[in-house]
Amino acid sequence: MLEGAVYFFRFGKGVIYLFELKFMITRTLLFWLLLLSCLLAPLDRLFAAEVNVYSFRQPFLIQPLFDDFTRKTGIKVNMVFAEKGLVERLRQEGRNSPADLLLTTDVSWLGEAEAAGVLQPVRTPTLEANVPSAWRHPQGLWYGLSMRARVIFAAKGRVRPGEITTYAQLADPRFKGRICSRSSLHDYNVSLLAAQIAHLGEDRARAWAAGLLANLAHKPQGNDRSQVRAIKEGECDLALVNTYYMGKMLDDPEQKSWAEAVYLIFPDQNGNGAHVNISGAGITQAAPHKAEAIRLLEFLTGLEAQRLYAELNYEYPIRPGVAWSPVVTSWGRFKPDTMGLESLIRNRALAIRIYDQVGYQ
Ligand code: FE
Repeated sequence: MLEGAVYFFRFGKGVIYLFELKFMITRTLLFWLLLLSCLLAPLDRLFAAEVNVYSFRQPFLIQPLFDDFTRKTGIKVNMVFAEKGLVERLRQEGRNSPADLLLTTDVSWLGEAEAAGVLQPVRTPTLEANVPSAWRHPQGLWYGLSMRARVIFAAKGRVRPGEITTYAQLADPRFKGRICSRSSLHDYNVSLLAAQIAHLGEDRARAWAAGLLANLAHKPQGNDRSQVRAIKEGECDLALVNTYYMGKMLDDPEQKSWAEAVYLIFPDQNGNGAHVNISGAGITQAAPHKAEAIRLLEFLTGLEAQRLYAELNYEYPIRPGVAWSPVVTSWGRFKPDTMGLESLIRNRALAIRIYDQVGYQ
């Protein structure tokens, strides 16, 4: 405007036409630019570097890793967290689901997602090099990210080291009234019995479940940590607890004394090994950002992420050669049960039926 006015005063009226022409061109250009950007906006959103995660894992455990991934790749990670219902949600959303990656805390959820048909097989040389075959789906429907063991927590001073060394002994009458347990129907106990079914067969696994039930100090109740508190309070001497709770209780001023009242026993070290379960992830069937989801999965199974991911929850890295956190290391090395995770999924329904048959609620 100012430029035009100056021309007008300097060179007279003739110049005004030139000024108007210039203004018109600018205006038309602006109009087209605006229209183009409006048209391209949805495309931009479609191709934006981002990945959507449905997570059973709590955000605080995983967000630091997502932030690191975004810093390194420029790919934004959006997370939806829920404690349950995510597989059902994926099923209902079908091909329109915005989710790219399902992140779970237990192999049973991966099995459920597999059965619901909401995952797609993905295999890359990196993923297969990062995750040993025992801890991933044979066709690449899901991959393990971390491992935890379900072991025996024993009362210091009341259970001699070596007094119990196997899961089988939990059903031994000499431990009558000395064991505490959470509900058998919780995923952790269902998976443990599913493993016993795979090793012992249905009948012997049923006898084991009945024997364990007969040894309980009281009705199954509470969560894993409640069993440790019960040991601290002298209600019982033994319980089946996931390893990472030891680390979590030590971090909690109120629960530290519970943790200090017990020690860990990794069962079946001369046999099948301690029962382990995984947290893991699979690419969804819909996956609008499949390439980004694969990159995220490769990142999460990479060296640095593996160390951090396991450390944040006192779990074991799934990838061999990754250092364990100092607290986890203090519990000692152990032999894990490497029987296929597939059998935990396959025997799940039977395990629930057996617990029901023996009256273990
Ligand atoms: Fe847990």
